[in-house]
Amino acid sequence: MITLQDIKHLDSIASAHKRHGDENNAKLLHEAAVILSKEIPAQVTDRDSFEYSGIRFKSARCPACRTRYDEDDDRWLSKYCTICGQQLDWNEDANDG
Ligand SMILES: [Zn+2]
Repeated sequence: MITLQDIKHLDSIASAHKRHGDENNAKLLHEAAVILSKEIPAQVTDRDSFEYSGIRFKSARCPACRTRYDEDDDRWLSKYCTICGQQLDWNEDANDG
């Protein structure tokens, strides 16, 4: 399983390539780091709620691309963002309701 430390390491290799004038490898490694970083679960943001037909639903956003998810949608609690592929963490903070 990929860790944040692995991603930082990959990015530092990309930076080293860039310092040595190897733009192509720097770009490739940086893009790989961005893609791999989506495998690390990121907590959904902007938790909110809205009322529809007298029922209150929750909503939240992908922290990477800001796509909004609504509780009455099939995509609610999706493991991955259906737009950008970011792995999502839906756990609410312990002190948040
Ligand atoms: Zn997204």
